[in-house]
Amino acid sequence: MKKIFCYILLFALLLNLPCKPSKPKNDWIKGLAALYLLKTAIQDASGTSDYDNIKTWYSTMETLEVQVVYESGATPYYATFTNPKTGNSQYVWDIFNDNLQEMFKNRSQSITTSVPKELSSMTEISSQSKSTWTTSDITSLGKTYRTEKSTSTKGVFFVAFVSGYYSSDGSTQDTSVIGVSVSGTPYIAIFKDVITSISYSNPVEEATVGEATRIYVEQATLVHEMGHALGLVNNGVTMVTSHQDTDNGKHCSNTACVMYYANSGTSALVTYIESYLNSGSTVMFKTYCLEDTQSFTP
Ligand SMILES: [Zn+2]
Ligand SMILES: [Zn+2]
Repeated sequence: MKKIFCYILLFALLLNLPCKPSKPKNDWIKGLAALYLLKTAIQDASGTSDYDNIKTWYSTMETLEVQVVYESGATPYYATFTNPKTGNSQYVWDIFNDNLQEMFKNRSQSITTSVPKELSSMTEISSQSKSTWTTSDITSLGKTYRTEKSTSTKGVFFVAFVSGYYSSDGSTQDTSVIGVSVSGTPYIAIFKDVITSISYSNPVEEATVGEATRIYVEQATLVHEMGHALGLVNNGVTMVTSHQDTDNGKHCSNTACVMYYANSGTSALVTYIESYLNSGSTVMFKTYCLEDTQSFTP
């Protein structure tokens, strides 16, 4: 039996909830952010290679490749978008890519990242017809659709955008979980239905920043889950400065960091995303996490 851990970024979303009359008028977005650390025992065979591990990724890896697949109806954001706050256009997936490059900056190990930016570089897969996804299901999907295994010099990570919701028990849908990284594997799942459900109740806000917010939420989720996959926080990568929020698993105590676990009942996440829209900046990892990845020598 191999033990895996899955990390779930729970962003929060519940907007337009007429069933909550007590909601203040200006509370157009209600955030619920939480993270669960689940421990699931599975029967072996995750389909990974001997090189899908932290040691390889922080020593001999030269290329970090991200393979993206999606079910029809769960298409990722792609190509370019215009930040309504700054007026600047950029590739959606450069947000993710910028963060990956930042993780490996200042290392003797030089990394080239390979991240798709256009839909033509991603692969549509047949409908999986699933309303719930367990970590075992995600592992099975990765085994089936990852077309290339990692080598000593190339880390191949697999990201699947799926329809349906995460389920820790195989039946109950957790409609707030946006992404899962199956620890010990290079497999990440993004639950597109959760992202699509995000909207602003104020129509003017929705028209101006709604789409950009969803784009940033999607990219921030990718960054967060990839952070776990690449050993954060204290998840295989040694901490330089103690900054693990141990009460909340493998997370960062820095509230400004994408690896921070935000408390439920707040609009922390959306406020967080909006700060990036306003500044136009893309790097969401902060000092302590970057200090860890940039100086880690396994
Ligand atoms: Zn997490
Ligand atoms: Zn951090």
